[in-house]
Amino acid sequence: MDRERAEKLIAMNRAFKTLRERQKVNLKFYPEVKELAKEVREKRERCVGNQELFEKVVENLRRRSFNVYVASDSEDAISKVLEVVGDEKLVVKSKSNVTKEIGLREELEKKGVKVVETDIGDRLLQILDESPSHPTGPAVHLSVKSIAEQLSKHYGVEIPPDAEKIVEFLRRDIEKSVEETKIGITGANAVTAEGSVVILHNEGNVFEVLSRPEKWIVVTGIEKVYESVEDAVKAAKLQSFYATGEILPSFIEIVSGVARTADIEKRLIEVGKPREVYIILLDNGRSRIANSEFREALYCLGCGNCVANCPAHSVYGEKFSGGRFALLDAFMGEKEALRLCLSCGKCKKNCPMKIDVPGMIRRAREGNELYNFLLSHLRWMNERLRLEILKFLLEFEGRKKD
Ligand code: SF4
Ligand code: SF4
Repeated sequence: MDRERAEKLIAMNRAFKTLRERQKVNLKFYPEVKELAKEVREKRERCVGNQELFEKVVENLRRRSFNVYVASDSEDAISKVLEVVGDEKLVVKSKSNVTKEIGLREELEKKGVKVVETDIGDRLLQILDESPSHPTGPAVHLSVKSIAEQLSKHYGVEIPPDAEKIVEFLRRDIEKSVEETKIGITGANAVTAEGSVVILHNEGNVFEVLSRPEKWIVVTGIEKVYESVEDAVKAAKLQSFYATGEILPSFIEIVSGVARTADIEKRLIEVGKPREVYIILLDNGRSRIANSEFREALYCLGCGNCVANCPAHSVYGEKFSGGRFALLDAFMGEKEALRLCLSCGKCKKNCPMKIDVPGMIRRAREGNELYNFLLSHLRWMNERLRLEILKFLLEFEGRKKD
């Protein structure tokens, strides 16, 4: 392990510790969280893989003038996005695990389309060419000092190591692309039986991405179906609490069609933007998983709390995505990393949906389980020791400089 890698892991673990402490404090203010989690789990059990509900969602989205497309795999989804993008050369995009799953940004860039991420964390990773370390806090492994240094180099101007100034600088830069583009791409946290799309965000950028360009493209998984907007909001509360420690995000967008007015003779007339909305519902193996022993992986809310509590991720970083995300990598063919899982159960214990990730990892990885268990612990102890030594040396150097 080199120094740079150790610094990133230390910064990431510090951020996760802050999150855990905030959750602990705020649990006193939101004692209903535990009961809410049980209720949402039951709802997810009913919705995932429910074909009747899925058809109702699609029908009502279409009735509300959404263009709905069910994509069988990544290639299918990407070609649909490219068709909608057409000759445009700039798109703005907000955070979405599904677009990451299909490598959408890279595919658009290969076709000469400039993609600008609008979430601060994702934009940082895009500029600095870094990998995300957490599904809802992708840049938590970067310190403010290293961010300022690298951004200054990228933009050729002096950017101070001050979090507020960095955010202000990036927001202004993103804003220019939002003004210029005709295409916005987002994910979705839920699509509901009424024909609505529900998206949570904290930065205010999703609203800009969906309402300022002419076309809005939503890319999400087929498992994100809910029986009602109310249920989706309950899940949103949980996702927010386990991702940030707050029971609600700053914003929840519930979008049920394009902008319209009924002010003239009660006829519905389209106004403003977006003029066209496209929803791509991605299967990419989900139907198969829904009918397998791994079904409960699809109950996931994407809060990332399993990652924030995974001791293997805390020492291996991106080499082992942690919790449910390590399992997702395995579904995509990256099974080798599963050997790093310690079978400690912390992901399940800290998951609001109580998804049995350790059990599924044990079933998905190959080889003798006792051997896997012993080897994973030996490797982890070795890696942890190296990280602790580097941490000590870095602190010692820091004290000497002071
Ligand atoms: S069981 Fe595996 S994936 Fe879950 S927290 Fe432990 S090491 Fe991480
Ligand atoms: S598995 Fe659980 S803890 Fe992990 S992201 Fe999904 S809902 Fe959150």
